[in-house]
Amino acid sequence: MPDLPSARPRSLYVHVPFCTRRCSYCDFAVQAMRDPPVDAWLDAIAGEMRMLADERGWGSPLRLDTVYIGGGTPSLLGPGAMAALRDRLRPWAEWDDAAEWTCEANPESFTPEVARGWRAAGVNRISLGAQTFHEPTLRWMGRLHGVDGPARAFDAARAAGFDNVSVDLIFGVPSRLGRDWGDDLVRALLLEPEHVSLYGLTAEAAAPLGRWVGEGRETLADEDRYADEYLLAHNTLCGAGFEHYEVSNFGRPGLRSRHNFVYWTGEPYAALGPGSHAFYPPLRRWNVRSWDDYRDRITSGRPPTDGEEVVDEDTGGLERAWLLLRTDQGWPMEPAGDAVRRLAAGWRDRQLADERDGRLRLTVEGWLLLDGLAVQMAGAAEQDARPTLVRAAAGARSASGAAG
Ligand code: SF4
Repeated sequence: MPDLPSARPRSLYVHVPFCTRRCSYCDFAVQAMRDPPVDAWLDAIAGEMRMLADERGWGSPLRLDTVYIGGGTPSLLGPGAMAALRDRLRPWAEWDDAAEWTCEANPESFTPEVARGWRAAGVNRISLGAQTFHEPTLRWMGRLHGVDGPARAFDAARAAGFDNVSVDLIFGVPSRLGRDWGDDLVRALLLEPEHVSLYGLTAEAAAPLGRWVGEGRETLADEDRYADEYLLAHNTLCGAGFEHYEVSNFGRPGLRSRHNFVYWTGEPYAALGPGSHAFYPPLRRWNVRSWDDYRDRITSGRPPTDGEEVVDEDTGGLERAWLLLRTDQGWPMEPAGDAVRRLAAGWRDRQLADERDGRLRLTVEGWLLLDGLAVQMAGAAEQDARPTLVRAAAGARSASGAAG
């Protein structure tokens, strides 16, 4: 294992690995069960936090600016779980009301009791998995709520005092389902959320949908419809006053996700729970995905780490390009060398980017090509930084298909 750097994270992710059942498109680290073992989860999370703090030599409790409880289905844990979690972590991590504390919730289990219990514990932001308001698509996805579920969950959130609620929506579902994406966007806006996150449907190999697609039983949206739906979401949500501040995220002014910006700006963050990923620059580390394996390791005093890697200069360069270009912060053009300037000019000509205040920002058309453009930018930045080395390696790179 490499020497661990001493950075003290100011952000924490905690994973809840339980869902009542698995959705058709999901390959997340979750285990299907109706009554999750809340106390065993709290014990395991606290046990991992203790182990981590000892290993890292943090000494005093971390002071956190953002906390994100994701899943899985955190709302399955019930009204008392967040207060209990905060108490259990207090010896090693603390946060106050100024911190952004987000919990993910699903409409069917985010009851008024859960909403009140979480708000009383200090949770101040909810991320609600609505996905669609089209009944046949909800059933096809395997979701447990009906079309009225998100509105009921919103009522519960508002009544409990939440003034920062995000809605998740999925686009690019099979056309045979007859889902009207424009109608879903309007119905989401009627809830008056502060934030919207989009997910483009993909067929992950480990999800039931991956098997259906592999067997030719299901067909996802083609590239043109995927792009049309993405652009419709951009136009509809920006027209309603949202800022499209990251490739998949829209926020009312001043209500962007602070926690996600920690990921996108390369800041350190701690993570607890099965399948969670942490970053202690330059070390990235991830946990075993299985809840049973995770719990067994913690109870027998073994770290739940499944793997780790040091982000080297090359990987770091590509990641930096990808992270900077995915938000509206964009790529800093000062300093920029000839290769970056040439690339930027080409992107501007094709309306893939614009340049303002010394930063190159992708347009919504550019965001549709984010992965490829990030590879091009990383190659150009490397060429500017190391021109001699890059010229010598040019043949090898072009043969492997990497951009320059
Ligand atoms: S609720 Fe979310 S985490 Fe759970 S199975 Fe469905 S998509 Fe996966």
